[in-house]
Order: sequence, then structure tokens, then C-alpha cells
Amino acid sequence: MISSRNRRTIWLLKGGLIVASFVLFITTVLLYVSQAQQGALLTATVRSSGWVAYQARLELLKTEAAFARTSVIPTEDGLRTLSMRLEILRSRLPLLYNSDEGRLLRGVLDIQPQVQDYEIKVDRVLDEVETLDPEDGNTVRRLQELQTTLEPLGQLLHSTLMQSVAYNQELFRREKELAQTPGVVPLVLLFISGAALALLLFLQARGDRLRLDQLMEAQSALGAMEENLRAVIQSVPACMLVIDPADDTVTFFNSSAAAFISTSADDPGWQRLVRGARDAARAVNGNQWGYLSMAYTRPDGEVVSLRGSFCEVLWQQRPQLLLVLVDTTRVRNAELQVMQAAKLATLGEMATAIAHELNQPLAVIKMAVANAKRLLEPLTGGEPVAVKLDRISAQVDRAKRITDQVRRYGRMPTEQQQLFSLRNAVEMAMGFVTEQFRSADIRLSIQAEVPPELAVFGEQTMFEQVIVNLLVNAHDAFESGPANRARAVRVTVRSEDDRARVEVQDNAGGIAPEILARLFEPFATTKPTEKGTGLGLSLARSVVRDMGGSIVGENIENGARFVISLPTSIAFVSRDAA
Ligand code: ADP
Repeated sequence: MISSRNRRTIWLLKGGLIVASFVLFITTVLLYVSQAQQGALLTATVRSSGWVAYQARLELLKTEAAFARTSVIPTEDGLRTLSMRLEILRSRLPLLYNSDEGRLLRGVLDIQPQVQDYEIKVDRVLDEVETLDPEDGNTVRRLQELQTTLEPLGQLLHSTLMQSVAYNQELFRREKELAQTPGVVPLVLLFISGAALALLLFLQARGDRLRLDQLMEAQSALGAMEENLRAVIQSVPACMLVIDPADDTVTFFNSSAAAFISTSADDPGWQRLVRGARDAARAVNGNQWGYLSMAYTRPDGEVVSLRGSFCEVLWQQRPQLLLVLVDTTRVRNAELQVMQAAKLATLGEMATAIAHELNQPLAVIKMAVANAKRLLEPLTGGEPVAVKLDRISAQVDRAKRITDQVRRYGRMPTEQQQLFSLRNAVEMAMGFVTEQFRSADIRLSIQAEVPPELAVFGEQTMFEQVIVNLLVNAHDAFESGPANRARAVRVTVRSEDDRARVEVQDNAGGIAPEILARLFEPFATTKPTEKGTGLGLSLARSVVRDMGGSIVGENIENGARFVISLPTSIAFVSRDAA
């Protein structure tokens, strides 16, 4: 970019060159005119110098004519005329070197000495002619002799005249040449200054062109930037809208805001939103950003939480209000859920503590019931009271089961976490229930398609408890299920890529439809109160999740299937085993 100082310099230079060119042009013209005038004057003067020689020559011819006439018949008049001619000739001769024209001629032809000789001769001839007597017989001869004396003067004048003419012509030629040369210097200067001016104009035009190109480039870049900005504004997940505070109309909105803009002008929810933003903007100073958080009731009745900022902007040449809002409804709901979850967590902690504390009184009650039963037996024969005490004992057992489950549920998942063999853990869990299954005539089988060293990470005893829970559930399902088919529970352990699958499948008739949707929720059970707690599957899901896995339950033909998916780590156990 050219700085303003440089531009001023260029303008000064250009102005200087224009003035110089103009002055040179005028000077050249004036010089030409004056040269022409001077040349004409000089030529005229030089011609006059030839004229002087010509007149002298003419006078000599007239004198010679007078000599000739007088020589034929000498008379007084004739001699007088001759004297007069000689005098005129004598007066003309000094003009050849002593007049303006003669001096000019003298610079070229040095004839002064010769002419002065002839002046003396003419003086002598004049003196002698004045002494001549027309009656004298020698006069004619003497006149002829005198005439002969002046003859070389004729040649001198003739050659002077010729040379003067030749010189005139030479002079004329030189003048003509000279007249052309003086104009060359200013012409060259004029040309140089003109060329410099043209060059300057060209450079400036080029600079202007470059600047224009840069300007156009910048303009197109600005256009592209505007396009990008528009695209960005359109694609941001926040609602951006511009409101004219004069009449509360929306003058611009992006695609995210389109869902919020009210189509009906008299929508009270929308009016409240716009009014709220406008009032908030008034409270803020000028073009500073202000922040707002408000609820907007949409025409369909849905309440939307909005949070964002606003600012006064110059839009379509007038101050308007730019609103940038984010729909925080989901965040707000999530916040509420987190609060609820936090409350539940506290409740869970309390429940774990209560479960722990309840264990003591339950043990005492259990012992007291057993003692009471023993003491009462000899007195009452035991029957009716014993039944009651048995019921108390059974209820205490149930309460203990619940507290045990709750305690397990509430244990910190990170305790004693380590890699363990998945297959061993499953087989171990199966071992716990083998006797139970045999007595209920249920065939329990395992299909292990993974090596023993296939490891998973977590708390092994908790995981074993999960498998035990699934197996016990299957066992319990047979109690209410159809009795007409061979009872079988099959456990499959297999691996796919970097995950392991444990499937527990039975043919006990399947999960009751009313519980299927909330199978893993705490306290969801179909079992009688003295048997089921509804915490088994919920605990299972919690344990599996802590191990980075998932558990699903589904009904299959004739029964139910529970599938646990877990991340595996073969390498670690292999090294350990080695
Ligand atoms: P609980 O066993 O104490 O009832 P769970 O959370 O372990 O609690 O089980 C919840 C319910 O899921 C059970 O009451 C039962 O109705 C159902 N259920 C679980 N496993 C099976 C199964 N294999 N077949 C049929 N129903 C099942």
C-alpha cells in the first residue's frame, strides 16, 4: 500500500512535471517565433550588404558610361557630369566598409584596403577630370586612360557583389539550419518531461489498478467471509435472532431459532419473551452484552428453559437487539435428575447403614425367638405358640436376606477389583447351587468356549454372586413354571473379539410380561414376599456395569435367557499364569 506521504510526493511530482512541460512548450514556441524574426532580420541585413556593393557597382557603371559619353565628344557639361558621377562613386566606396551593411560585409570580405586604394585613385581621377579642357585634343585620350585606371575597380566590385550574393545564400542556408536547431533543446526537454509525465501517469494508473485489484480482492474476501459467517450463524446450535425494539418484530433469525419464532403475533408467550429481552436490554448500558435466563411457553403449551445473552447491534442501519439463546430445557431436566439421583444416593447410603445396623437386632430377635421356643416347649406342648414363633423366625430370616442384599448393593464397586478368570468364576458360582439344582431335578450344564486364562476385570465374589442370582432365579422359575418337560439350565461362556459373553438360559416358561420392562429395577419381583426381594437383578446390573459390561434379559422359546457382555483381557492373565 502507498502511504499518504508517498501519494503527496507523487502528486507534487506530477504537478511539477505538468508545469515544467507547459513552461517548456511555451518557451519553445516563443523561441521559435523570436528565432524566425531574428533570422528574417539578419537575412534582410545581409541582403542590404549585397545591396551596398550593387549600388557601388551601379555607380561605377554610370561613371563608365559618363566616361564613354564624354570621350566621344568632350564638352563642359559632359566633364561636369563625369565629375559629379565620380564624386557620387567616391561617396559610395566608403560605404563598402564603413556603413552598417559594409561592416557586416567587412567581416566576410576584407576589401577595405583595396577599396581605400581605389578611393585615392578616384580622388586623383576626379582631380584630373576637373582640370581637363574640352577643347584640348588630348582630352579624349586622357579620359580613356583615366577610365582604364578605374576598370579593376569594376572587377573588384563585381567580385564583391558576387561573393556577397554567394555569402548571402550560404548565410541563408546556415540561418535556415540554425533556425531549426535552437528548438531542439527545449523540444528534447519537452519530450523528456512529457515522457516522464506519461511514465508517472502510467505508474500511477498501474498503482491505481493494483489498488483496485486489492480492493476487489478484499471485497470478495469480505463477501466470502460474510457467507461463511452467515453459514456459521445458521449452523450454530444456539438460537440467534435480531429483534427490532421499535415494534418487537423479528428481523433475522437462524435455523435453530426457527423453532422458537412464534408465527402468531398475539402469542402471549412470545410477547413475554420479547418484552423480557427488551426490558433487560434497556437495563444494560449501550452495546454491552447482558445475560438472561427465562422460560418460554410455546403455543403448544411446552415450557422451554432458555438461557443466553443479548446485545444492541447495528442491523439494517438501525440499532436492534441481537439475542443468542440456548435451549437449556434438557440441561435443566438433567440437573433436576442429578439432584434426584443425589438424593437417592444419600438414601442408598442410609439404607446400607440401616441394613448393617438392623443385622444386630435381627440376630438378637432370632436368638430370642429360638430361646423362647425352647423354653415354651415343656409348658405348652409348643404347638400354637411354636407356630407363631416359627413365623417370627421366618420373617426375621427374610428381613436378614433383605439387609444382606442391600449391604451388598451398597458396597463400593472399586473395592478389591482385579483380573480374574471368567470361566473359573462362572464354574465356582455354579458349584454353589449344584446341590440345590440336583434336589429340584434341574439339569445344570456349562458350555465353556473360552480358555481358563480369559480374564475380566472386577470384583470376583460380586460377579460370582451375579451368576448365583441368575441361577437361583432360573431355579425359582421352575417352581411356578410348567412341569411337563425336562428341566434344564444351560450356562454358556464364549468370547467375541475383545468381549466375553455369559448366557444363562432356562426352559422354565419365561419372564412374566408385567415385569419384563422393569426387570432390573430395585424391588421389582413376582415372588412371594417371604422369598423375593426384587434386588437380585438390580444388583447384577450394578456389578456388571462396574465391570464395564452390560446385562440384558429376554424371553426365548419355553424360557428366559440372561446375557452378560464384558470386556476381556487375555494377555494379562496369561502372563500371570505363566
Ligand atoms: P427376586 O429374585 O428377589 O424376585 P430379582 O431381581 O432377582 O428379584 O428378580 C426379579 C424378578 O424377575 C423375579 O421376581 C422374576 O419374576 C423375574 N425373573 C428373574 N429371572 C427369571 C427367570 N429365569 N425366569 C422367569 N422370571 C424371572
